[in-house]
Amino acid sequence: MAEFEPVITARWGIEGADTIDGYLEHGGYTALRTALDTDPADLIETVKASGLRGRGGAGFPTGMKWDFIPKGGDAPVYVVVNADEGEPGTFKDRELMERDPHQLLEGIAITAHAVGCRTAYIYMRGEFLFAARQIERAIAEAYDRGYLGRGAAGTDVDIDIVMHRGAGAYICGEETALLDSLEGRRGQPRLRPPFPAVEGLYRSPTVINNVETIATVPHIVERGAEWYSSLGTEKSTGTKIFCLSGRVARPGNYEAPMGTPARVVIDELAGGVPDGKRVKAWTPGGSSTPFLTDEHLDTPLDFESVQAAGSLLGTGAVIVLDETDCVVEAALRFTQFYAHESCGKCTPCREGTWWLTKILRRLEHGGGRLDDLTAMQDIGDNMLFKNFCALGDGAVSPIHSSLKYFRDEYVEHVRVGGCPMEERPVVTAAEAREAGTTGVVELGEVLR
Ligand code: SF4
Repeated sequence: MAEFEPVITARWGIEGADTIDGYLEHGGYTALRTALDTDPADLIETVKASGLRGRGGAGFPTGMKWDFIPKGGDAPVYVVVNADEGEPGTFKDRELMERDPHQLLEGIAITAHAVGCRTAYIYMRGEFLFAARQIERAIAEAYDRGYLGRGAAGTDVDIDIVMHRGAGAYICGEETALLDSLEGRRGQPRLRPPFPAVEGLYRSPTVINNVETIATVPHIVERGAEWYSSLGTEKSTGTKIFCLSGRVARPGNYEAPMGTPARVVIDELAGGVPDGKRVKAWTPGGSSTPFLTDEHLDTPLDFESVQAAGSLLGTGAVIVLDETDCVVEAALRFTQFYAHESCGKCTPCREGTWWLTKILRRLEHGGGRLDDLTAMQDIGDNMLFKNFCALGDGAVSPIHSSLKYFRDEYVEHVRVGGCPMEERPVVTAAEAREAGTTGVVELGEVLR
């Protein structure tokens, strides 16, 4: 990989950079001072010109999102940071908050000024104990030094930041479910329109951005839109943190320019697959993005190229499976997760994930039939784009993509009566039914 200067992870290796003194020593809060002296409309234009797109998965242009906030209204405007990072394979926001919490706070304060917000919220995933402590401490330090509160950074701008911890529901990472949860209600997605920019938190205009997105903002303000847009590709500018997990020698978070090929990210940054094994399947953006294979390893990791290859960049969570891993088992684990996390509001998602789990379980553990492959495809078809939110669509990704690329492996599961990757007794459908352990049902029952 060509020489590259990290942007949002630049302070990760520096001792003490997570404290306000360390942050100030390494250039912290200078961008906030610049931003507070800048007209909010100009800040929005700068972020638009930078080409920054949301890093939470959807890739929506950040400056455009800010610009949707109605100007001059009576209702308060809110900024909400989505720190409810729950997509399997994704762990970049946690590390960003643990290692460089002030970078996020500075980004929030700049965003708040740009959109006319007085109170901003961080909705933190409940399980992130250390990240929550780091953010709480950083907020206290920032108030203490006058970067937050009344007259932030010696100006007449008031900015408050409140951290709220969730209770561990994946669906609360969906922005409208997050807002309901923040308001004290059960976290379930809202019907749109109205969109949050018009009616969001407490029915007021609200900007919701991901942690990584907001953490990038101070750098754009400090170094300019032109510099930022010179990184990455034409339509996917800047850098991205890729979360490497699964069968790689050095799992972890790696920042790289957008458009870096998957092969470089997996082999050079994460040390490649151990023991000289072959990549069999990988996800570009977490468990809700379709599997790709070793034939796609030269795909540049940017929004457009990954989509052209048949998947989605999502959160940049690259989960690697090697030749010894069972794709059916991987699909089962992902689907179990979605069945557990479905909020239950829509029938296709609630019922579909349950049935898919049941079918995958018997394919993997004995009792699967060839009909199951058709049933899975059909259930997926009946879920796709027929749900209230993206969870239901995301749950279909491992199903359809694994059937597309690894159909033979499913057939082999049926042939041997269980997982051929493991050395265990073959269980036929009849044996499994007799044992009553696998929940085997007839196809007609599956479709009812
Ligand atoms: Fe809930 Fe699933 Fe419907 Fe989303 S798609 S609202 S998670 S039931």
